[in-house]
Amino acid sequence: MKNMQDLMEHTIQDLYSAENQILEALPQLISKAQSSQLRQAFEQHQRQTEKHVQRLEQVAKQLDIDPDGETCMAMQGLIEEAQDLLDQLDGDEITDAALIGAAQKVEHYEIASYGTARTLAQQAGQDKIADLLQQTLEEEKQTDEKLTEIATTKANQKAVKA
Ligand code: FE
Ligand code: FE
Repeated sequence: MKNMQDLMEHTIQDLYSAENQILEALPQLISKAQSSQLRQAFEQHQRQTEKHVQRLEQVAKQLDIDPDGETCMAMQGLIEEAQDLLDQLDGDEITDAALIGAAQKVEHYEIASYGTARTLAQQAGQDKIADLLQQTLEEEKQTDEKLTEIATTKANQKAVKA
């Protein structure tokens, strides 16, 4: 890796791996969610995540690179940790709170990575790419906020009562 362009390409491939890992993990999170509010939020984000993958494919096409080629180790770690945690809780009251916590770590990782990639694209004058990345960034932020909202209303209140 020698220049900013290489760094951006690496970041896109890393995100492509991360998003695909999330798509694979989401059905499990959906099936474990206790409240319909959380399940619906995950289902909505699953549809968004499919779009995120497609946008990264568009970005890769613009950059004339293959989006495959990296494994996002950070996402692998976050998902492994979430699975370990979920194995320890089975259907009890704190499950939703734990799911929300794990999902927000994933969203925060994506927000950081998309923010970086967007800025690199802006600095390179690649406005179309910056715009695609910005669209996904907004959806990640909205998801994070929605999860906070759910946590502060339902899941955590239930856990406190328990
Ligand atoms: Fe995403
Ligand atoms: Fe996301």
